[in-house]
Amino acid sequence: MSYQVLARKYRPQKFSDVIGQEHVTRTLQNAIEQERIAHGYIFSGHRGIGKTTVARILAMALNCRSAAKPVAEPCGICDSCTEIRAGNAVDVIEIDAATNRGIDEIRELRDGARYRPARDRFKIYILDEAHQITDAAFNALLKTLEEPPSHIIFMMATTQPEDIPQTIRSRCQHFSFRAVSFEDILQQLRDLAAQEKIAADDDALALLAEAGDGSMRDALSIMDQAIASTAAHLTLESVRNLIGAAPSSALETVMQSVAESSSEKILVLVDELLGEGHSPTHFARQLVRFLRNVTVAKIAGKDSSLLQVSSDERARVARIADLFTEEDLARHLQIMLRTHGELGYRQEQRFHLELGLLKMAHAQRLLPLEQLLSEASASQPSSAARAGARMTSGPSTAGASSEIRRSEPPARSSSVSPFAADTARKSVPKAESSPEPAMILRPAAGTSGTNVVIMGSAAPAVAEVVPEPRPELRPERRSEPRSDLRPEPRPDPAAARDAGTDSLRDAVLAALAHQSMLVSMLESAEWSLEGNSLIAKAATSSTMIEMSFTSEARRIATAAASGLAARPIKVQVVPGGTAQTTSKARRPAPSGNTSNESARSRAEQDPVVRRMQEKFGAEIRTVIDYREKG
Ligand SMILES: [Zn+2]
Repeated sequence: MSYQVLARKYRPQKFSDVIGQEHVTRTLQNAIEQERIAHGYIFSGHRGIGKTTVARILAMALNCRSAAKPVAEPCGICDSCTEIRAGNAVDVIEIDAATNRGIDEIRELRDGARYRPARDRFKIYILDEAHQITDAAFNALLKTLEEPPSHIIFMMATTQPEDIPQTIRSRCQHFSFRAVSFEDILQQLRDLAAQEKIAADDDALALLAEAGDGSMRDALSIMDQAIASTAAHLTLESVRNLIGAAPSSALETVMQSVAESSSEKILVLVDELLGEGHSPTHFARQLVRFLRNVTVAKIAGKDSSLLQVSSDERARVARIADLFTEEDLARHLQIMLRTHGELGYRQEQRFHLELGLLKMAHAQRLLPLEQLLSEASASQPSSAARAGARMTSGPSTAGASSEIRRSEPPARSSSVSPFAADTARKSVPKAESSPEPAMILRPAAGTSGTNVVIMGSAAPAVAEVVPEPRPELRPERRSEPRSDLRPEPRPDPAAARDAGTDSLRDAVLAALAHQSMLVSMLESAEWSLEGNSLIAKAATSSTMIEMSFTSEARRIATAAASGLAARPIKVQVVPGGTAQTTSKARRPAPSGNTSNESARSRAEQDPVVRRMQEKFGAEIRTVIDYREKG
């Protein structure tokens, strides 16, 4: 007897057999029982999670001959059911839209839809990969969907429902399929192993389930391969070899070395792994996934359902999570995501993997600097630059150093040049009165966040606390955190000024403007400036402060205050204040009032702004007029 792949052999034939999609199957069954049957269905979700399977079961349930009307669960033995299962039912037509996507095919379909079903209750079209259908073809389909003959039902399965025109979507019932949970996949693999009489260690099955990554079909197809390659007994080792995965302990060791900033250990480990035949790309991908899980464990705890891994792996990610802060982990994840993305098209994959890992070790070493800088007094701005320079020199990276140097992205220039010169030149003579509005420009296309501070949590610490000359004029570049560790240009002493508490407060409030809860809390706080600390005494509990003044908010506030004062200013929010009247605590209007309108029109006239708009299609989002605020 020829071997039938597991995914096929064990394809669910009833709604109750479908795993992990109860929200869909239950709704469909209820609808059938209430005889509320739609003419169009869209089944969306990742590949291999049962969309087409559910479409077929629904087709069986609708056309099943075991009763005089559609049944909530197909009998599986009548002519209709068996023909649909075998894929040769006359009235259930499956079309792979990936290959039959054009207008001719859809016209044919539409013409065929005029005729009544040959035998069954409904004529059912199952369109797989429906998002691939061309617009013209969708238009042809739309005509049918607008006034569907009562015997016609369309079912569209797609991984990209957003690519299906709204006019079509609005005429269909849309069901979104979920990724199948790790536990569900694992249980299914256990059941199948038992049915197939295959001896399999549970940790081997767990690794298969993890590799499936939410897709039952993927997990099953790897299991097919594993069975084929190991014959008798599935062990963790055999599965790991099959999928080319490095042992989880290697991932743990790498992150421990990062925590210790031990560049040498990292390089030795990479050497071992590659020596054993692991691919750099695969390892980077594993590390990305591992770091993601560690981050989740840090944020949500190791028992979170967001972690779709075995209990051993939970314990492992929890151990690593203890070594890092949330910010560290976000930064490391970002570094590895980039590294993994870059590996795909690089020649010297090994060097790039090493570089990525070393960057993490460096970033780790950089952390105390963040504190150092925020506490550094204004009289020693150069200590930051010196410290930064020391970091850059870093450890020597045997053999890879030339590669590393060459591939380092251009430092500051990518985000500021060619306007940095302009900005710096203008800011110096005008520092005292600062007549120019500060602007934040961002490219019009793509970005959607409201955060006006350039660097998110993934940015190296230096970027956030070293003040920049004002007025700021910088295109936002969210996607590219600066990964090099070069020192920032030192703030020009001429730009330094003694900013008052009020103006600092306003700068902070303006920077946080999108967090309205926080802003209203801070607006009524008592503000004071003590040395390098800007302190807001809020009339609320420390719990409330902890909840709303997040580390991200603190970062934004610190950057805004430091930027205005041209020296590091630490922003603190403490409880125990008495509410200040809101009229005294004036918040700069984000936009719309008259003075802001004039600032905006001045901004629009500015030659630099115009060049930005011309070159990058930038748009003006926020104009902050600092003259209003001193
Ligand atoms: Zn039947």
